[in-house]
Amino acid sequence: MPMDVRVGDVLRMKKAHPCGGFTWVVLRSGMDFRLRCERCGREVLVPRVKAEKGIRQILRGPTQTETPGPDEKTSK
Ligand SMILES: [Zn+2]
Repeated sequence: MPMDVRVGDVLRMKKAHPCGGFTWVVLRSGMDFRLRCERCGREVLVPRVKAEKGIRQILRGPTQTETPGPDEKTSK
């Protein structure tokens, strides 16, 4: 089962980039991930399978798309 990686997510990897950074921003998701190192700004294209193996944690920002439900009780 593929991991739920979305554009805008920050990935904390198991191995550090040569610059010393562990976190990458997801610029594109799909067959390949386009990631940008948060520390040095370098962009890389990594095959999804390979990237998923290196992910330690997915850090999602405050922009969560979880909705409580369709029940809008706005009585006018
Ligand atoms: Zn880097």
